[in-house]
Amino acid sequence: MISYKLPDSVKIVLNRLETEGFEAFVVGGFVRDLLLNRETHDCDVTTNARPHEIEHVFLDYKQSHIGKDHGTVGVKVNGEWIEITTYRVDEASLDHRRPQAVRFSTHLKEDVMRRDFTMNALAMDGSGALIDFVGGQEDIRSKVIRCVGDPHLRFDEDALRILRALRFAAQLNFKIDEKSITAMRTHAHLLSGLAVERVFQELQLMFGAKHASLAFEYGQDILRHVIEMKQLSPIEIELLDRFEDVRSKWVICFLTKPVDELRSQLARLKAPKRFIQDCAQLHTVFHHRFTKDDYAMKWMMHQYPSLILQLSMDLKRKLQDPNYDEDAHQLLNRLMDENACVHIKDLDLNGHDLMEYQIKGKQIQNLLEKALDGVMRNQVENSKKALLAWLNLTS
Ligand code: ATP
Ligand code: MG
Repeated sequence: MISYKLPDSVKIVLNRLETEGFEAFVVGGFVRDLLLNRETHDCDVTTNARPHEIEHVFLDYKQSHIGKDHGTVGVKVNGEWIEITTYRVDEASLDHRRPQAVRFSTHLKEDVMRRDFTMNALAMDGSGALIDFVGGQEDIRSKVIRCVGDPHLRFDEDALRILRALRFAAQLNFKIDEKSITAMRTHAHLLSGLAVERVFQELQLMFGAKHASLAFEYGQDILRHVIEMKQLSPIEIELLDRFEDVRSKWVICFLTKPVDELRSQLARLKAPKRFIQDCAQLHTVFHHRFTKDDYAMKWMMHQYPSLILQLSMDLKRKLQDPNYDEDAHQLLNRLMDENACVHIKDLDLNGHDLMEYQIKGKQIQNLLEKALDGVMRNQVENSKKALLAWLNLTS
């Protein structure tokens, strides 16, 4: 039997619980990612120890009790937080999103069977041996996302699993099993009842994934229950994977819609304000017709962050937008490389310099704006001496 190598921090936790007479296994995404040789961030351990017993076993470690009501105690080992949760069974859900009640269990199998997909239902003991009640190992090998148990029941219990399936397909480049995708479509209407924060979190993971197109190929109709957007063509869907930036992918979904629709959709999903602003700016700049005009380009650089301008050029180029101008793109790159002066703060002149010439109040701002305009038009060099002379303050 294959034995996997667990990080020391995980081994310490499993071994200590075992030494104290409890069962303990690492479970869920951590095991899946270990099998896939994929980098993992969070580590979940499941045990028959009750929360107060977990606390007692790790008394000499830093602990977090935020999740204690759900049976979870966080323990910091070698600088990493490990979440240790008592075996659980979720009692039937009434609202399609949260179990009605959580019951502690004494059997690993029960804890595993409540998990969403077979690939997420594997457990591993301290020696690195795999425990697989649901055929998860085989599904990982054949790259399939499959519900644990009856897909209709599982999506009815918790509709978030529908989005999780789509985002895992996008992250892992996995297929979704036929019965599971059918059930996802049947239950897609339940998505509108989920907390928007959880929906947005999943969407961001999905958009951020390398194979985001897969989520749309499988679930464009499903996703339209959570994002009111136009139908993407197969070409647009394919294009999603050519971008790394999440904002660009959101903009692609709203390219033919007014920017306000993108803004209101993101606001409805309670996206961070900064993210909404970035996406809206990208959408706006995308529709701007850039030309090889030095002064006009500098004004764009004055108004929009460099990243947004670069992303919009990249978007135009990859979408083969008729407005894309290669020369304008090169001009932008050159001006950015040169750190072109496009803001008052970039000037080699400031308010204090002007005050030495008895300039006061509003006049300072006016002169600085004039100086900036002169530099942006290449009428004057950006040096204090040249600017003072150009403003007729020195001879
Ligand atoms: P990620 O790599 O994004 O962390 P993950 O599978 O580890 O993916 P978590 O949210 O960290 O996701 O959850 C840990 C484990 O808990 C999952 O692997 C799965 O076994 C279980 N789980 C999480 N969410 C659900 C859910 N909605 N329904 C059933 N089981 C779930
Ligand atoms: Mg995880």
